[in-house]
Amino acid sequence: MTKLAILCVDDEAVVLESLKEQLKRPFGKDFYIEIAESSEDALAIIQELQADQIEVALVISDQIMPGMKGDEFLIKVHDRFPKTLKILLTGQASAEAVGNAVNHARLYRYIAKPWDQTDLSLTVTEALRRYQQDQQLAQQNQQLQRVNQELAQLNASLEQKVSDRTAQLVAVNQQLHHAKEIAEVANRAKSAFLANMSHELRTPLNGILGYSQILMRDEAIAPKPKDGIRVIHQSGTHLLTLINDILDLSKIEAQKLELMPQEFAFDAFLTDMVNLFQPKADQKEIVFHLVTEGQIPQIVQADQKRLRQILFNLLGNAIKFTDQGCVTLTVIGSVQFDQRLTPYTLTFEIKDTGIGIASEALDRIFLPFEQVGDHSQQEGTGLGLSITQKLVSLMGGTLQVESLNQGSRFWFTLTLPGMSDAIAPSYALPSQIITGYQGTPKTILVIDDLSDNRAVVVGMLTPIGFNLLEASDGQTGLEIALAQSPDLIISDLTMPKMGGFELIRQLQNDPRSRPIPIVASTASVSQDDRLRCQTAGYQDFLAKPIQLDELLAILQRHLNLIWIEQAAPIAESLTDSIVVPPSEELVLLYQAAQIGHIEQITQEVLRLKALSPTYHGFAVKLLTLAEQFDDVGITKFVEPYVRKA
Ligand code: ADP
Repeated sequence: MTKLAILCVDDEAVVLESLKEQLKRPFGKDFYIEIAESSEDALAIIQELQADQIEVALVISDQIMPGMKGDEFLIKVHDRFPKTLKILLTGQASAEAVGNAVNHARLYRYIAKPWDQTDLSLTVTEALRRYQQDQQLAQQNQQLQRVNQELAQLNASLEQKVSDRTAQLVAVNQQLHHAKEIAEVANRAKSAFLANMSHELRTPLNGILGYSQILMRDEAIAPKPKDGIRVIHQSGTHLLTLINDILDLSKIEAQKLELMPQEFAFDAFLTDMVNLFQPKADQKEIVFHLVTEGQIPQIVQADQKRLRQILFNLLGNAIKFTDQGCVTLTVIGSVQFDQRLTPYTLTFEIKDTGIGIASEALDRIFLPFEQVGDHSQQEGTGLGLSITQKLVSLMGGTLQVESLNQGSRFWFTLTLPGMSDAIAPSYALPSQIITGYQGTPKTILVIDDLSDNRAVVVGMLTPIGFNLLEASDGQTGLEIALAQSPDLIISDLTMPKMGGFELIRQLQNDPRSRPIPIVASTASVSQDDRLRCQTAGYQDFLAKPIQLDELLAILQRHLNLIWIEQAAPIAESLTDSIVVPPSEELVLLYQAAQIGHIEQITQEVLRLKALSPTYHGFAVKLLTLAEQFDDVGITKFVEPYVRKA
């Protein structure tokens, strides 16, 4: 509805006309001015106007009319058109009629007759303004309601979207959770696979490395085959390094590698490095320097094994990639000797004059399995630097590299804790010079289901003067331990009949075996495995493949041994302390030696050994010679004592 009307109702035509005239001037332009002479006509006109889409904004009605009175009429209008404003116009003030219209027709105003024209005009202006305002308000209200409805709809759809999205997120979350579980299972499977693979590879390596170590010490073997044995040992060691590298990398990636700091003699450590790399440098006819600057500590507290691994890899690379010139290891210390307890730094720099590294490859060399440049002839896996970098950062340093004019430079700085005033720990002497130990002979029980593994320990320890007992399962081991009370037990973990964990439980339960130190020896070498052994009560852990140095260090630790070194030739030094059985006991042995009957020699020696513990050294010497099938040596050794008879 666009146009509005004003309807005037009065039964007096003159009044009606005058009213119309007075309204026309101010309002005629914008409003239809309609007139009716009775209430009934007026209602009909409103109806018609309504049909023509014209809305009656204001009705001005006389009160006193024939038929329907003004107030009655206005109430009717109000019933049908509540928005229409109503003004009552009357000559006689009828309080009742006005009250009626006010109460039931929401009368807008009452105007007394005769009216003042200005008053009428103002009242109508105000009424129309009010009407339009009401209209606008109503429209705004409608709009608001529409907006409200739209908002409600939006809200509902938003809620739907939120619940859809939540459902999607829950589904994605479930998928992620599932994927994480799968990844964890895969990760566990990978760790288990690596642990198993490492175990399976270490077991045969125990035989290879064990026997190559035994044979390399064997004086009866000629230099040429010994070179071969050395190659076997080197290749086995290389294989072991690879296995360890792969395990290390996966441990580092799984954040399972823990450092084991300990105090160690730093100068001996550096000397070891020189002893290891000097021959390699000599072989390539390049110079190898160790330079120390600043104050270098005597004792360092760090994870020695890992520090060695870092330098081993960096120096190994430097020598590998250098064909002429020199490789220099520089160690710069910042120790203040008057402040022994404060932390200090050690900087390690490895510089070479080799093939160098292209600057664009400098980032890549730290990636696993990454090898750059053309050196297809060189051996290597590309794992070394990746592990080295991670180890350095585990130790709190940063491995850095730069390309030099000629060659390359790697360096890192470690901040190490100040030294305690404790006396430097004693260090096991290198095994190659240990030939025996002071005091009474010690008995070691070796329990392992693989005879090759037992044979390695027996082969390593017999020449040094230990008595060896063997058992191929936990049950037999337990019986032997209880019956013979060995000084120390070395036991495998996985064995038929009774495994290592049940064995140690039983050994600890029995007062006879409780004091015996027990060492776990296994090819499962993870930190978890070590921890499990420690928790079970094992006093030490000997990783397979067994390294003679480590084995001897463990024996020294638990049996408080004082080693006899090779400074004097074996035969003489031992002869000094050997008690020889009386000549009549030696006849059969001498005869067996003369015909080279090794089995009979061994039997005889064991018989003599059983006669008295004082014959231990004698027996060890002869058993060593027998193992080397050195019947001539045995004959020579025994001859003087037999002749005396
Ligand atoms: P790799 O077992 O191949 O030596 P690394 O991870 O130790 O593996 O080294 C990765 C690569 O970085 C090497 O293959 C070589 O290309 C490069 N590299 C490392 N050290 C040197 C060096 N001192 N001189 C030249 N190149 C080097």
